[in-house]
Amino acid sequence: MNNSKNVNQICKIENLFPKNIIAAFSVGKVNYDYRAEPASEVLKNRKIFFSQLDVELAKAVFPMQVHKADVAKVDERDRGRGEFSFEHGIAHTDALITNVKEVVLCLLTADCLPIIFHELSGKAIGIVHAGWKGIRLGVIEKTIQAMVNEFGVKPQDLKAFFAPAIGSCCYEVGLEFLDIFPDDISSRNQTRFLDIKNLAKKKCLNAGILPGSIKDVSVCTKCSNEKFFSYRSGDYLKRMLTIVAIKAG
Ligand SMILES: [Zn+2]
Repeated sequence: MNNSKNVNQICKIENLFPKNIIAAFSVGKVNYDYRAEPASEVLKNRKIFFSQLDVELAKAVFPMQVHKADVAKVDERDRGRGEFSFEHGIAHTDALITNVKEVVLCLLTADCLPIIFHELSGKAIGIVHAGWKGIRLGVIEKTIQAMVNEFGVKPQDLKAFFAPAIGSCCYEVGLEFLDIFPDDISSRNQTRFLDIKNLAKKKCLNAGILPGSIKDVSVCTKCSNEKFFSYRSGDYLKRMLTIVAIKAG
């Protein structure tokens, strides 16, 4: 990989977060998942991503995502989990929360919705892998409740950010979804589409987050498949990376 290819492969989200929070997602078809490519290549990609943010990869924590709804509270002892291999990540976990500085919460996705939560002053953060299965099992509400229980934050003081995910323009689903999410399916040309972002937004609101506190980058990974991995465009193994951390200072 030459240097020019590495330019602009990160979107750092600055204006929506307090100064003590660092949040970003990858742009460009650079893979961050060990299950897709030789470890040396993935590690190199991860090092480039983190160096551009001035964050240490050794402080990263990766969950072993399984499309369920288990939330893990992590701290300084978990730094480095999943850094060098998928199997060393936090097992059976689709959401991570922390209030410890310099513990970098990481998520790997290709169409599923990555959600970043932060308390408005930046004292606690969370990251959620929100696919339809996890949402159905309550992963969003469970993460918010875990932040309330563990860190004493109020839901109305939490803000949510939606990173790129498949949009209702492209998320084609089967008939059975009419029963699962009856209010979130639209039909065009006898085909049904799920609006997972609006579904996730409703879950956030139901859990007490204020309407003005939910921001969506409004990018569809399938429409923008030249910039993002999309499972439904055939990217079955490669994954983009979304991160959030509380800075040291
Ligand atoms: Zn689309």
